[in-house]
Amino acid sequence: MYGRLLATVSALALSACATGPSYKVPEVKAEDVKPLVVTGRAPNYNRSDAQNSMLVSKAFNNVLSAAGPVCDQAKINCGAFSVEYNPDKTVNAYASLSTRVTMFAGLANRMDETQIAAVLAHEIGHHIARHNQSTEQRATVGNILGRIAGIGIGIATRTDPNITGDLGALAGVLAGVVPFSKRQEQEADLIGMYLLHRAGYDLTKARQTWMTLAQISAEDKGRAGGNNNQRISSPLATHPTNAEREAAWETRKEEVLNSKTGLPRLSSQPAPH
Ligand SMILES: [Zn+2]
Repeated sequence: MYGRLLATVSALALSACATGPSYKVPEVKAEDVKPLVVTGRAPNYNRSDAQNSMLVSKAFNNVLSAAGPVCDQAKINCGAFSVEYNPDKTVNAYASLSTRVTMFAGLANRMDETQIAAVLAHEIGHHIARHNQSTEQRATVGNILGRIAGIGIGIATRTDPNITGDLGALAGVLAGVVPFSKRQEQEADLIGMYLLHRAGYDLTKARQTWMTLAQISAEDKGRAGGNNNQRISSPLATHPTNAEREAAWETRKEEVLNSKTGLPRLSSQPAPH
């Protein structure tokens, strides 16, 4: 059994040579990043698993069916991507292996369709840019085993930088997972926005996603040490703060809405005038 696992790992390591395209992410000035003032609570929709699962599939299919040209540009077959709904209360979503996106009930239940689509589009963005593959490329056997076990990196939500670094690193080590870099997160956000826009979702409404994640995170902190049935996975800690994403959203929205091609720019392309 162990031998077979190791064989699988080496095969994966060998096949992980492909690197994805590199995207030009619009700059966000530090002074434009304002602390997010988190007020109110994210709604809880109390949907059944069947309802959540349907909504997740619907949003995923909408995003994916509009993604063709972005996938072609990245020379990747997005038809192989699939979505999985997990009825666990964990507040998380992640991109695992090179084709799968998973969303948990704990997160889906707090979001409307547009926000669910925003999360899924972000995770699809990781796959389009082949972030899992380039991450695995520099990963150790242990890290790759973590990914085989289906442990991925989510989208949400801790915002306290003091907590994020240590916990994130520790959780990453324990889970055997290599986090995506900040640059990879920014690329996934950018690609996700193009996908959302192409699928007809309103980018202004979708911006609320970061506030929702910040609200959920604030609830979690309020219960620190307490016991609750809503768990936020620690590897999420490696993501850019919600405040950074909020600020970046506006800058990137301008680019997406004004884009003549409807495609994210590659690093090799000159800036349009
Ligand atoms: Zn991500």
